Amino acid sequence: MKLLKPIDINKFLQGKEENIPENKTLTDILDKIKESEKIAIFTHESPDGDAIGSSLSVYLALKQIGKDPVVYIPEFPRVYEFLPAFEHVKSEIEENVVFDLAIALDCSDLARVKGKEYFENAKSTIVVDHHGTNNMFGDLNYVNSTSPACAQVLVSIFEYIEIDITKEIGTCLLTGILTDTGGFRYQGVTAETFEFAADLLRKGVDVADLSVKVLQTRTKANFELSRRIIDRLELLEDGKIAFSYMTLKDEEEVLAEPGDHEGLVDIGRSIEGVEISIFIRQKEDEDAYKISMRSTNYVNVSDICYLFGGGGHPRAAGCLIKGNVEQVKNKIVAEAKKALKEQK
Ligand code: AMP
Ligand code: MN
Ligand code: MN
Repeated sequence: MKLLKPIDINKFLQGKEENIPENKTLTDILDKIKESEKIAIFTHESPDGDAIGSSLSVYLALKQIGKDPVVYIPEFPRVYEFLPAFEHVKSEIEENVVFDLAIALDCSDLARVKGKEYFENAKSTIVVDHHGTNNMFGDLNYVNSTSPACAQVLVSIFEYIEIDITKEIGTCLLTGILTDTGGFRYQGVTAETFEFAADLLRKGVDVADLSVKVLQTRTKANFELSRRIIDRLELLEDGKIAFSYMTLKDEEEVLAEPGDHEGLVDIGRSIEGVEISIFIRQKEDEDAYKISMRSTNYVNVSDICYLFGGGGHPRAAGCLIKGNVEQVKNKIVAEAKKALKEQK
């Protein structure tokens, strides 16, 4: 699958490529990469498989073309530690470092970027993303909201600029696609998703092994949390809304690590008749909850989260709301009920 006429990235970087890309943003992105020495890669807080797979694949791709980027992911979920290049991930950056170029992946706005102070201070910034709510916060923005994963946007870019998609890069990319599509199941999966996946499999990526590692296996703490979440789950509005929550105390008691809350919102959505699943998780500052919302068929949960300063995708979105469990629940459930009535 080629977006446009491919170019030879190595020739381009050396100024020998005659076949200049027809896509202006991509040309500008390549120019920026070419002229930048100190490059850093950033992604969103509480990184998921797409955030991590995208970041590691860009790290490996930049290495391949002779750059030496920093990839900054301070909270790295243990389940992804098997991925290639994990050993190069930085959990700290020296204070006051100014990067020539900062690249944000899988982030819809600046507030989502973990390490945003470095991103903001960089001389140039690039955003590659797939959120419909992306507000184009980079100097250069390559955003495709019809792509079900940021990693899928990257496959199209890499194929276009003829990065050699090695088994390692392919493994990172397929991790992003598999996790953001729930294993090719969610709305948003396109024919291209399968075509790209087929390309990656041809590179030797082991889809069965990857699926076991990133989709099927859960940590013990995640399992313990899911027991509590099931116990507390309420069905509202005639069973169309599922609500559950988790506190910092729960996390302490089950010895939760970063990423251990992943997938818990799906428990509510899996129940027959549920259209909206709401799962809220207490934040470290205690007086706020991170909202995760999923819908099954028709409600646009991104629109609901947008009302609270968040965003995401039509069937998966998030935001932050201040207050205790009851207050936060009342606010978000009220909007969910409205959406159910309006969007039927
Ligand atoms: P989550 O429920 O955290 O898995 O997030 C679901 C989707 O919504 C992901 O695509 C996130 O990138 C997006 N999302 C989550 N929280 C926010 C937020 N505060 N602002 C914008 N997008 C968000
Ligand atoms: Mn993500
Ligand atoms: Mn994503």
